[in-house]
Amino acid sequence: MKALQYHGRGDIRLNDVPEPEPGPGEVKVAIAAAGICGSDIHEYRGGPIAVPMTDAHPLTGEHAPVTLGHEFAGTVVAVGEGVTDVQVGQRVAASAVVRCGTCPSCAQGLPQLCATLGFHGLSGGGGAFAAFDTFPAYLAHALPDSVSDQVGAMLEPLATGVHAVGRAGIGPGSTALILGGGPIGLMTAVAAQAAGAEQVIVSEPAAGRAKAAERVGATTVLDPRSDDVVAAVRDLTGGRGVDAAFDAAAVATSFDTALGSVRPRGTLVNVAVWEQPTPLNPTALLFTEATITGALAYTDAEFERAVEIAATGAHDLASLVSREISLDDAVTEGFDRLATDPGDDIKVLVRPS
Ligand SMILES: [Zn+2]
Ligand SMILES: [Zn+2]
Repeated sequence: MKALQYHGRGDIRLNDVPEPEPGPGEVKVAIAAAGICGSDIHEYRGGPIAVPMTDAHPLTGEHAPVTLGHEFAGTVVAVGEGVTDVQVGQRVAASAVVRCGTCPSCAQGLPQLCATLGFHGLSGGGGAFAAFDTFPAYLAHALPDSVSDQVGAMLEPLATGVHAVGRAGIGPGSTALILGGGPIGLMTAVAAQAAGAEQVIVSEPAAGRAKAAERVGATTVLDPRSDDVVAAVRDLTGGRGVDAAFDAAAVATSFDTALGSVRPRGTLVNVAVWEQPTPLNPTALLFTEATITGALAYTDAEFERAVEIAATGAHDLASLVSREISLDDAVTEGFDRLATDPGDDIKVLVRPS
């Protein structure tokens, strides 16, 4: 079968690889749809970041070239020895968080902080930009019939949004500012509303992404090129600032804007991969006693919460799919376009078969 594999920065190839069969504890899934993630683009344009290039990843035993693709939905077509909780014929989405299961973080239910953390679709051991994928059964999450393949392929980033809002304690009545209306920013907006936030303000310059923020229910959408975001946030929150600001933009000004927008003792959550460091003036923290933290991936419970949110149908997640492309076109129409000029693209789905 053909698989889209990462060889190095700027070098992704459609290779012929053997069709995988599930080993003990693994499932084999026929991929229906797989999304191109911002982290795939970071690997392509600025990487390698998470892909092991020369030393094999300790959990997958593999290094580059590795098959990419970690946001997907499909149908289980085979299960390996010892798999009892996933059945052939079941539709599933999957967590990407490959973990050891025994380190202190894993023991605490925080697999995303595993001492030997890997990501399915980046760290070797398979990936979803192929007709078939195999992975440990513990990564699989069953999909209800009400969740389409398209939406199922977006549960992984939605789970990231669920985790991000959890890191900031967003709940009923909260106020949130989200910088960047790309997929992760928009999923954070959806998760904030699902958690009961009263105000969800999104700052995004691209017109198509700004409209998408409105479609998924942002209460205010600002344009950072023409609006003074910090001043606008103060206006919208009675001068106080938001409970939490999420940096999903990773541009030169976004961290400062986030820090300037939070209320006293508010929280700034970085959910972005930065290809370059950014300046930070720690004195700014004195006057707000703000907390700066990060959010990486999600726990298994947060992935389940993402499935629940999608199943309510309350958020128009399918509207975030801007294009669907074939595996053959994935480099030119997917990676190249998203790496150079994403424009109004939001989520591009690859349909492997
Ligand atoms: Zn991703
Ligand atoms: Zn671990």
